[in-house]
Amino acid sequence: MIELRELPTVSECSVAGCSYNDHTNCKAPAITIGQQSACVTFIPLATVKGGMDKVVSHIGACQRAECAHNSHLECTAASVIVGPGADQADCLTYAAR
Ligand code: SF4
Repeated sequence: MIELRELPTVSECSVAGCSYNDHTNCKAPAITIGQQSACVTFIPLATVKGGMDKVVSHIGACQRAECAHNSHLECTAASVIVGPGADQADCLTYAAR
């Protein structure tokens, strides 16, 4: 059985406007990356902060099947960086096969 702590981590997220972001740290225990590399956990709420203190964020699922790091819709990279790209919040570790 795989535990959450064994999944790839989000080493940095520069999307300051996300409710889960705290000084470039993602505070969601796990995020999902969508088909165009967008972080679909991204949510820019003005008055609500999300996530948990002292949490390390992980990639729970990734829909970008054509990424070189993707296997069975899961990420196999050691860690990923999230930041602005084509969308407001993208996986910047994406690599074409
Ligand atoms: S590195 Fe690739 S497989 Fe891993 S989360 Fe980013 S897009 Fe998905």
